[in-house]
Amino acid sequence: MKRLVLFDLDGVLLHSQENMRQAWDVVLEKTNVQRPFEDYFGLIGRPFKDIMAHLGVTEEVARIEKIYMTASFDFLSQATFFPGVRESLAEIRDMGVKMGVVTSKDAPRTKAVLAQLDIRFVCVQSPNDRFRGKPAPDHVLVAMAEAGEDPADTLFVGDMETDWQAACRAGIDYVHASWGYGKPITSVPAIENISQLPNHIQNHLP
Ligand SMILES: [Mg+2]
Repeated sequence: MKRLVLFDLDGVLLHSQENMRQAWDVVLEKTNVQRPFEDYFGLIGRPFKDIMAHLGVTEEVARIEKIYMTASFDFLSQATFFPGVRESLAEIRDMGVKMGVVTSKDAPRTKAVLAQLDIRFVCVQSPNDRFRGKPAPDHVLVAMAEAGEDPADTLFVGDMETDWQAACRAGIDYVHASWGYGKPITSVPAIENISQLPNHIQNHLP
């Protein structure tokens, strides 16, 4: 059985699509950015700065990021956890498996979201200036170091191709959250519902 499960946050634990849309609307209103929400949403899973680079937004990125983050924080109460998240995480905790989060959401919003769960996360990684964001493996590797666990004993649960790439590059097993915001990934293990995760962890031989 795996000893550590690392979760992506948006689209895996947190149903935040509407929150992102509202925050992006504020960006469209207050800046010169003109790309529709769908263009932004198709790239989530990477740090905000990297998404802007992909969208060709090169000016005032720090100001745009601040506007987006502030708006998202204001609307954060409208983001909810996916059905079954609380129960499944409690079940995983009771199995004695450690849990952590590796997200492209900034630290203040991540902290506010995770505080709503009655779960102790042994490692929580958000983008920073020291390490490369997903799809690079850096934050996954740091999370494992913080948890004191080996790659062979760790499982990543993600919903975007960037999550899968980060897990592969960190040398850990991956399971795809089909309820999330990404597309299915061919020949990669997937689960339809988070309630299937405890079983998946239990049956995962190292
Ligand atoms: Mg995600």
